[in-house]
Amino acid sequence: MHPFNYVAAKSVDEVTKVLAKHGDRARCLAGGTDLLVQLRAGVYELDAVVDIKTLPAANVLTLNGSLRMGSAVPCHRIYEDKAIAKAFPGIVDGASIVGGIQIQSRAGMGGNLCNSSPSADTVPGLIVHNAECVIAGPKGKRSVAAADFVTGVRRNVLKNGEFLLEVKLPKPDKGFGAAYERFTPRNEMDIAIAGVASSITLGANGKVKDAKIALAAVAPTPVQAKKAEEFLIGKEPTAANIAKASELAREAAKPISDMRGTVEQRKHLVGVLTRRTLTKALERAKEAK
Ligand SMILES: Cc1cc2nc3c(=O)[nH]c(=O)nc-3n(C[C@H](O)[C@H](O)[C@H](O)COP(=O)(O)OP(=O)(O)OC[C@H]3O[C@@H](n4cnc5c(N)ncnc54)[C@H](O)[C@@H]3O)c2cc1C
Repeated sequence: MHPFNYVAAKSVDEVTKVLAKHGDRARCLAGGTDLLVQLRAGVYELDAVVDIKTLPAANVLTLNGSLRMGSAVPCHRIYEDKAIAKAFPGIVDGASIVGGIQIQSRAGMGGNLCNSSPSADTVPGLIVHNAECVIAGPKGKRSVAAADFVTGVRRNVLKNGEFLLEVKLPKPDKGFGAAYERFTPRNEMDIAIAGVASSITLGANGKVKDAKIALAAVAPTPVQAKKAEEFLIGKEPTAANIAKASELAREAAKPISDMRGTVEQRKHLVGVLTRRTLTKALERAKEAK
């Protein structure tokens, strides 16, 4: 492994200065569960690693209707908090299945987002919860929707000197429910062949006021199944309408065949997982009315 300087960051300025100084030869370290594996494998040759676990602003976790989650907050802090688990079920489903307990005690959603892998399990949940990514850089802060953050395999909107500071999730409306499920050949410690997060907001008339469906591992970036979402809005949340939306979501998937699964298998899985997550989101939405 190429030797690098380790910087235990104490301020946002310190992080952006080190990143700006070294460009592509510096990266943030959150839990390190992707980064350390990649450094050992020679994916990156770095001169500086900036630890953001030591940065107080990246460890913020506050629920006040809306949720502020620092980019270094590990998964276990999310699902162990009963109030967060109740209000934000779509992100809790994802956070609870990233690796095993050892991984979840280090790794977080910030690292999952910034690693920008198509199979990232927590990103679809952030999308259906309408999350906003707060990015800090040499010119100050800017915000990008979680849906627009990932731009390709291991690529995202972060520019030189910038890092993800925190993720903000708006307070869910009354009658909101969400869920995430993935399919892996093994029960845990495996990468998704396909994953789907769905959310439903029920109106006072019992019809679907809003719906979001985000797919993982079926394209270079997360995919929002917009036609399926539009189909559901204004309709009764019946099994037949959920089945039709699942078919439309299947059409939105643009997977490849690889050692993990074929195009046909992945499309089939998207249909099944969309039906299951919409059904679970609906149950949760009814509980939240
Ligand atoms: C055994 C094992 C099992 C796993 N299982 C799963 C799984 O089931 N599902 C899944 O999705 N993933 C899985 N992973 C991958 C990994 O654990 C997750 O992607 C995790 O969420 C990464 O978070 P982290 O905090 O460890 O990120 P890190 O490894 O610290 O960082 C990941 C990448 O993002 C960059 N980065 C981190 N934080 C920031 C920031 N704030 N701003 C800018 N860049 C940043 C880093 O430089 C690095 O390139 C697994 C990994 C292992 C080793």
